[in-house]
Amino acid sequence: MRQIIAGNWKMNGTLAGVAAYTAALRAAACPAKVIICPPFPLLPAFASALADSDIGLGAQDCHANASGAHTGDVAAGLIKEVGATYLILGHSERRADHAENNAVVAGKVKAALAAGLVPIVCVGESEAERDAGEAENVVRTQLTHSLPAEFIGLVAYEPIWAIGTGRTPTAADITAMHAAIRAALVTQFPKTGATTPILYGGSAKPSNAEAILALPEVGGALVGGASLQAAEFLAIAASARVV
Ligand code: PEP
Repeated sequence: MRQIIAGNWKMNGTLAGVAAYTAALRAAACPAKVIICPPFPLLPAFASALADSDIGLGAQDCHANASGAHTGDVAAGLIKEVGATYLILGHSERRADHAENNAVVAGKVKAALAAGLVPIVCVGESEAERDAGEAENVVRTQLTHSLPAEFIGLVAYEPIWAIGTGRTPTAADITAMHAAIRAALVTQFPKTGATTPILYGGSAKPSNAEAILALPEVGGALVGGASLQAAEFLAIAASARVV
């Protein structure tokens, strides 16, 4: 399987920038499976610009319900209808900004699966939790309670303290955490846990991508800031390999 390089645009980007960005992605001969997750209003423009390409399109959140009186929220079914395939859920920024706990995330994962989307579920510890030696326990608890029994998708390990900070865990720490996540997934999902891709996220950039993507059990990367410029994002994707 090719490693997966997923870009999380967060609350960035403009309609005017879609054409050049998608043209650059389409022109690249890249060894990775590339996925791009822009803000909701840009999904239709991305979907049409990426039609008939191998580049995946995703969104960054959904509501747990299929429809209803939830002002400002977006249903997974509509995300699918406008052309997305993937859905980032449980990102630490949503867990922090919108008080999304593991149960909330699990509800959204169920909604994504019911709509036919592939969830990319984020887990990761805070700096205080790592300093206290609790990182693996925290992440295991997130997996247990954020992933419903029917989960099939991707997991992204994103240490909160590495997101947008320029700091990354050591290779040994990434290796240990990805091994712990793999073991937990195999226990929790005996049929699919051994093959669920586990992405690393947190200050991935062209200068560290090759080293991170070479680590065992790293199935790819979830990239925030460095996904905003196509050239930088593609430089990361160029380091992907077949695992
Ligand atoms: C993210 O927020 O998913 C992320 C990985 O951000 P950054 O690459 O900017 O650290």
